[in-house]
Amino acid sequence: MNIKKGDTVEVIAGNHKGLRGEVQRVVRGKYKWGRNKGQHDANHDRVVVAGINLIKKHQRQVSGVQTQTGIIEREAPLHHSNVMVVCPHCDSPTRVGIDRSSGKKVRVCKACDTAIDR
Ligand SMILES: [Zn+2]
Repeated sequence: MNIKKGDTVEVIAGNHKGLRGEVQRVVRGKYKWGRNKGQHDANHDRVVVAGINLIKKHQRQVSGVQTQTGIIEREAPLHHSNVMVVCPHCDSPTRVGIDRSSGKKVRVCKACDTAIDR
């Protein structure tokens, strides 16, 4: 998955199509069954995007922890295939390529060939 925390992404499918937001958290997926159980599974990677995919969560009191309780609104993770990274240079949702010419992996925009990472 070519999405990192802090990226601006645009939702390209589903109820929130067309909306943009900043990635707050990347949720790494895990194999649930079989020999690979518990290992990383890129097919289930998800991202939490600020202000998008809000759900009403019924938060219970947890003993010993100070949390907001009752019905609270928070972001639910979106599947990584439903969002695209927005290139800061050409300001459009784009596919991401990897440039290894400098010895380090640098994410580049497929459309304008400029580095997405600063
Ligand atoms: Zn670009």
